Amino acid sequence: MSRVLVVEDSRTFAAMLSRRITEEMGHEVVLANSKAMAMEILDRDTDFFVALLDLNLPDAPCGEVVDMVLERGIPSIVFTGEMDDKLRDQFWAKRIVDYVLKQNMDNVQYMLSLVERLNRNPTIKVLVVDDSHSTRYVVGELLRAHRYHVLEAEDGPTALAMMKEHPDLRLVIADYNMPKMNGSELVRAIRRDHAKDQLAIIGISGTDRAGLSARFLKSGANDFLHKPFLTEEFYTRVTQNVELLEYIGQIKELAEKDYLTKLYNRRYVFSTGPKLLAAQMRRGLGAVLAMLDIDRFKAVNDTFGHDAGDAVLRQMAALLAARFRTSDIISRFGGEEFCVLATDMTPADAPAVFEDLRKAFEASPVSFGGKSIPYTVSIGLCLRPMATLEEMIKAADQALYAAKNAGRNRVVVAGG
Ligand code: GH3
Ligand code: MG
Ligand code: MG
Repeated sequence: MSRVLVVEDSRTFAAMLSRRITEEMGHEVVLANSKAMAMEILDRDTDFFVALLDLNLPDAPCGEVVDMVLERGIPSIVFTGEMDDKLRDQFWAKRIVDYVLKQNMDNVQYMLSLVERLNRNPTIKVLVVDDSHSTRYVVGELLRAHRYHVLEAEDGPTALAMMKEHPDLRLVIADYNMPKMNGSELVRAIRRDHAKDQLAIIGISGTDRAGLSARFLKSGANDFLHKPFLTEEFYTRVTQNVELLEYIGQIKELAEKDYLTKLYNRRYVFSTGPKLLAAQMRRGLGAVLAMLDIDRFKAVNDTFGHDAGDAVLRQMAALLAARFRTSDIISRFGGEEFCVLATDMTPADAPAVFEDLRKAFEASPVSFGGKSIPYTVSIGLCLRPMATLEEMIKAADQALYAAKNAGRNRVVVAGG
């Protein structure tokens, strides 16, 4: 489900919003120009992940539409021409997602980014750690209003145990004064296994003791909130911390992945491969390294064009990625050359696995521009774990060279 409900009586504003949500974000928009019409729509179904609501409608001049939509469990962003403090508090108390002033286009951009935020939040796990049940509940309600996946723990040790169960947690919100372990101790314990670029921590405390925020931050928290806090401040900090992690993730992806195929790049192989190899050696396990190169790829480009060549690279990469585990390193090493560092197969099985793969490439011509483009791949294998990654690559490369010389479209095992 990815439907957005827009309730707005101004036709131009509604049309502009719905066009941008449809075109820029790919969500389906259902428009209503009055509270009555919105009710009619919601009586049929309530399958919307967010509603954008105008507070001034002809049949609902004071935001009456908001209660109606919230009652049906739909997160709501409200917008209006003006908003005073009293009105704002009133709407925050209803657990709206946010309010936006209609005046300028920057605010529309903000509203759209909120919609995207709400679309992504269900995949983001947040752990609330507080010994007070009521604080946990309130913070949890705020987070749920933004569709986060919320988990709760009543003390530090419980939180640490839950973190083991949910390694994909992105945010922890921790109280300071708790039995067994205070917030700062908890943060330090979390940071032993979770780097700041993977998991954000926001410390919370009601005591005014000087230096508490500094203590939280020094033990590894990203941010700090004083109780009682304004709803708006809470959301701003949560959103900022989550966004920061996402930006870091995007930058990492750009640095580690190949744009065309979305496989890892050569840099990633050299930064992560040695660690993976060392871990395998420590456990007395093997590793298999394969170098793969498309045969006569220059001819594919010359015959069908560069775009067709790109399509071949993409399809070959997808086939490759589908065959191995995510714990293996599958990379585009350069041009039409690929490298696989696999840890989940025995050296004895590897030749058959890659022979299978070679056959799969041969049997999967790429459809492009109405044409069918066949391609084949030569593969060099190194089955013996060696002291360094470079040595394994060199051995696999020599085997690949031998495969090319022997007529291409075959698997050759180094030293075999
Ligand atoms: P061999 O069987 O000996 O490997 O022959 P080959 O033609 O595949 O090898 P060669 O190294 O001579 O040529 C590789 C070609 O790959 C040349 C280059 O234009 C093409 N290529 C490299 N990167 C890309 C890319 O990103 N997109 C496309 N379409 N072509 C690429
Ligand atoms: Mg080639
Ligand atoms: Mg080549």
